[in-house]
Amino acid sequence: MSVLEIRDLHVTVETDAGITPILNGVTLTIRTGETHAIMGPNGSGKSTLAYTIAGHPKYNVTSGSITLDGEDVLAMSVDERARAGLFLAMQYPVEIPGVTVTNFLRTAKTAIDGEAPSIRTWTKDVKSAMKNLRMDSKFAQRNVNEGFSGGEKKRHEILQLELLKPQIAVLDETDSGLDVDALKVVSEGVNRAKAESNLGVLLITHYTRILRYIHPDYVHVMVGGRIVEEGGPELADRLEDEGYDRYLPEGEEEP
Ligand code: ADP
Ligand code: MG
Ligand code: MG
Repeated sequence: MSVLEIRDLHVTVETDAGITPILNGVTLTIRTGETHAIMGPNGSGKSTLAYTIAGHPKYNVTSGSITLDGEDVLAMSVDERARAGLFLAMQYPVEIPGVTVTNFLRTAKTAIDGEAPSIRTWTKDVKSAMKNLRMDSKFAQRNVNEGFSGGEKKRHEILQLELLKPQIAVLDETDSGLDVDALKVVSEGVNRAKAESNLGVLLITHYTRILRYIHPDYVHVMVGGRIVEEGGPELADRLEDEGYDRYLPEGEEEP
């Protein structure tokens, strides 16, 4: 059992215009085995929350805390966060020239577990995870993110999720740019990780579409860098019907 606790988190970002507050007191608790959806209009701060959990240097925590099983996540390096059991999909978004998917995954696995997996089980695990995600075995020999399509990037994310076996995963807009078939395959991967290793999921999404495949236990609505409403899956259904307009100031529409 692991628990990620976010307490009254305030985050600013520095722009040409100066220091701008983005998160204005976010409180959220995610336990292993639970799936939480964070939904909200564009620009409400959802990705900022994901980047802050990931330790992106651009985002400055001015007050509040993030802990994993009581340990101060904000004091950890990005690598330490991964070793502690956090999975942050946007952690490795860049192309890594000359590093194949298979070597990349093995290096990540070794870093997280503190020892290299045995070649035999590793090869078998990678093959079966790729098969589950309906990925061509040639994919393992491609260089990380080099020329990956949107769908391939997402599958690669979920492949990491399946192999690295984190405690809690933060998935930001995992549904964006996926056709329905790819969305199903990716969702099945997340659901497998939930079933097999009791993964806790923080699923960040603007649209309700992915929630038909990955069922949230809790739904939180973020507007203006705050959580303004919380509920169960029925809240997502209501957002699907009504959109976000009622959370926005009178006369204002979603940017
Ligand atoms: P969401 O993911 O909900 O669409 P974001 O967290 O991406 O929202 O953005 C929230 C607000 O913070 C937006 O107004 C955005 O322009 C601003 N913002 C986020 N990241 C940066 C950044 N790196 N530089 C400047 N502004 C940013
Ligand atoms: Mg956005
Ligand atoms: Mg976003």
